[in-house]
Amino acid sequence: MPNTPNDHRLHLDSLLAHGGGGHDPETGAVVPPIQTATTFVRDEAYELIKPGHIYSRDNNELFSRTEKLIAALEGGADSRLFASGMAAIAAVARLVRPGGTLLAQSGIYWGTTLFLRKHCARNKVALVEADASDLQAFHDEISVTKPDLVWLEVPSNPFLKVADIANISAHCRQAGALLCVDATAATPLILKPLSLGADLVMHSATKALNGHSDLLGGVVTANDAASEAWAFLTEERKMAGAVLGSFEAWLLLRGLRTLALRVERMNENAMALARHLEKHPEIEAVLYPGLASHPQHELAKSQMTGGFGSVLSVLFKGGKDAALKSVGALDLFQRATSLGGTESLVEHRQTIEGPDSGIPDNLLRLSVGIEHIDDLIADLDQAL
Ligand code: PLP
Repeated sequence: MPNTPNDHRLHLDSLLAHGGGGHDPETGAVVPPIQTATTFVRDEAYELIKPGHIYSRDNNELFSRTEKLIAALEGGADSRLFASGMAAIAAVARLVRPGGTLLAQSGIYWGTTLFLRKHCARNKVALVEADASDLQAFHDEISVTKPDLVWLEVPSNPFLKVADIANISAHCRQAGALLCVDATAATPLILKPLSLGADLVMHSATKALNGHSDLLGGVVTANDAASEAWAFLTEERKMAGAVLGSFEAWLLLRGLRTLALRVERMNENAMALARHLEKHPEIEAVLYPGLASHPQHELAKSQMTGGFGSVLSVLFKGGKDAALKSVGALDLFQRATSLGGTESLVEHRQTIEGPDSGIPDNLLRLSVGIEHIDDLIADLDQAL
């Protein structure tokens, strides 16, 4: 029976509640201190006082503890924290050398798409974008383009499309391609891409992992810590220097303590809102994988456990004007970008991404927080 707070056989909720570790044996402190030192001394024999502790761009107690905890959540071998989700994405993208090919799911987070387009063009990497929910077409792209790296986002933001990770990972293996899944909108508690065959999973820790909209962070986890890709990524984190600050690492570990409770409430709230809005006369469609009307609902049910995430998008019958009028009338939902925080946020994505982005002008994206569901419904009802 596992009974110590850092025993990785514990249920994930219990590991999380203790921040992935026990008290400090020297002081009895139940939470770790913020380690701000950038450098670590050597003794008279020029040995390190603690092996691995040379300089804080390489390592930091809080990074290691948080990385072990996230690797346990993912069922992975090892994790690395980065300074933001985009820093993590950039490090993974650099796995593809000039002359190589990167196949990315289309219609994903706009920042990722824009970055990949610019990065690949500058570095002579061929970028192919394809809809991963059209499985046959995506397989064909893998067979024809023979990519070095395939990038999926599950569920995708803001269309909430669900790619079949097990199926695509099998095709990637046959074609010799690495598969990385951005599972930010799901969290590792409800979607574990590594157990479905992905090589790498990435999260913007800015979102639900931290959950309090007060830090930027990213994390990549591997299923094989001995792989060439992982050797590259760990070296890249250290040498390119996109490390998290100590205070941010401390805040992230604190945020993670309540992840299980927050995810449970956010999932429940999102599901209830999706069902409520689906019946609303002003709403044309609700995009949420938990709804039976979602085209990949059965797939989502088979690869997600315990919920369908906290992000949903709604399309208004009255077009852009109706969407903007409603967004302006919301009181409790904050009009701001981002997702995964305790507070509910709403966004007119086309305003952010531009008219050429392919985002319908009648779409609002909701990030559902942990408020009381009655208050969220009342706010939407009065605004609609
Ligand atoms: N991935 C997804 C799905 C996102 O929504 C975002 C940000 O919104 C990112 C990655 C980028 O993360 P960050 O803002 O932490 O750089």
